[in-house]
Amino acid sequence: MSAPAGHAAASGLPVRAWVADRATVLTVLWFGALVAGTWPLVLAAAGPDLPLIGVVAHVSGMLAGYGVLVLLVLMARSPALERGIGADVLARWHGLAGRAVVGLVLLHAVGAVAAWAQLTGVGLLLGSWQVLGMPAMPAAAVGTVLMLVAAAASVRAARRTLRHETWHGLHLLMYLAVALGFAHMLAGPDLVGHRVLQICWALAYTHVAALLVRHRVLTPLRQAARHRMRVGGVRPEGPGVVSISVTGDHLAELHAEPGQFFRWRFLTPDLWRTAHPFSLSAAPTATELRLTVKALGDGSTDLQDVPVGTWVIAEGPYGAVTSARRSHRNVLLIAGGVGITPMRALFETLPLGPGEDLLLLYRARTPEELLFREELDAIAVRRGARVGYLLGAEREPLSAGGLQRMVPDLVDRDVYLCGSPGLTSAVRASLRTAGLPPGQLHEERFAF
Ligand SMILES: Cc1cc2nc3c(=O)[nH]c(=O)nc-3n(C[C@H](O)[C@H](O)[C@H](O)COP(=O)(O)OP(=O)(O)OC[C@H]3O[C@@H](n4cnc5c(N)ncnc54)[C@H](O)[C@@H]3O)c2cc1C
Repeated sequence: MSAPAGHAAASGLPVRAWVADRATVLTVLWFGALVAGTWPLVLAAAGPDLPLIGVVAHVSGMLAGYGVLVLLVLMARSPALERGIGADVLARWHGLAGRAVVGLVLLHAVGAVAAWAQLTGVGLLLGSWQVLGMPAMPAAAVGTVLMLVAAAASVRAARRTLRHETWHGLHLLMYLAVALGFAHMLAGPDLVGHRVLQICWALAYTHVAALLVRHRVLTPLRQAARHRMRVGGVRPEGPGVVSISVTGDHLAELHAEPGQFFRWRFLTPDLWRTAHPFSLSAAPTATELRLTVKALGDGSTDLQDVPVGTWVIAEGPYGAVTSARRSHRNVLLIAGGVGITPMRALFETLPLGPGEDLLLLYRARTPEELLFREELDAIAVRRGARVGYLLGAEREPLSAGGLQRMVPDLVDRDVYLCGSPGLTSAVRASLRTAGLPPGQLHEERFAF
């Protein structure tokens, strides 16, 4: 764990807890994997002879059980991880770990059946049947099928064709899959007979389940009751884009920072089922939060005329792309399209000392698509910052050469970046070519 995330609350709340950093979290996760993967090897070395495939089954089983725990922790929305690492990075790690877990579960299942068939001399078919009859195995087998269904829905090609809500519903099957497989983990030969280990394993799962319930269910409910948020106003910003101001009580207690986002659930008959992530597009105040929504699909289109007075539940704040990431005096903000939302909030608030430079480069295809133009110009004048508008489909201004021409001290700056996936990957490559150290790039992705 590294530096504390911030400030003592104006409300008198205690100073916010410590936040996690990538290196520490990855070290802890890999160490856990090493321990989980080594234990079956220790047992195999000390116990009766086991065919190699059996050892593989044991190691992959323990690693899969541990991997599931990691998957759940990464998605528990724990503030320490969300603020320190960022939801997009956690989602990427979750995706990678998910693929590994599915592979390990399949290896474990195939290995266990093959080892049993080899040890007992029965064929693979009969072996499978006998393995299925072992304690807790039928439930684990159903759990494995559910896990495979959820995993198949997450394959990129499948996910593109599914509505977000359908994909999310299928993904929630993972919780059922884990619950069904839990007894099998405790009854497996690597834990059975080792009472202390069984208790530790069960406690680890209980702890993670408690984290999930706390941060994904109880905290949003508590926040809803405490902050009583409602839509205070809806203002058109451009074609298919509106800013929604959300008013509420005690909002300072949320410790929201410019650059962060919430998952917003608008309680209308059409919208209440789904929480959509939207960044803060202005600095939060004690009574108001502002988000800006571009109509993209059903949900964001319905939000264009959400009635004033609608109740809102906001889960968050999330996101690590805040001023806390800054390590240099001069800062470059790069925004593309609706990616301007968090950049506008940062442009308004990033601390700017004497002699420091804050430059915002904002790319849009046409002048009509530029959002907040008047606000941005006013902020630039008020703060002594600079804003440059890059119009047109040409990517040249955001090439390595283009950026170096516009920002000669590029490599000595922090760069904050937000835009469409195509634009951000092109800019990321340009910045790498221009020599920007990776640690100085702070990126918010509008996709998980
Ligand atoms: C961290 C973050 C911050 C964002 N900030 C803004 C912002 O400030 N302004 C803005 O206009 N857009 C923002 N977006 C994008 C916005 O969340 C999506 O455009 C919106 O959820 C689309 O919903 P839909 O039902 O209209 O579209 P759909 O057609 O259902 O989906 C369009 C795309 O959005 C994704 N999406 C849909 N629902 C969700 C959801 N509940 N959670 C995650 N992804 C979803 C889908 O996977 C798909 O890729 C942000 C996204 C993220 C991840």
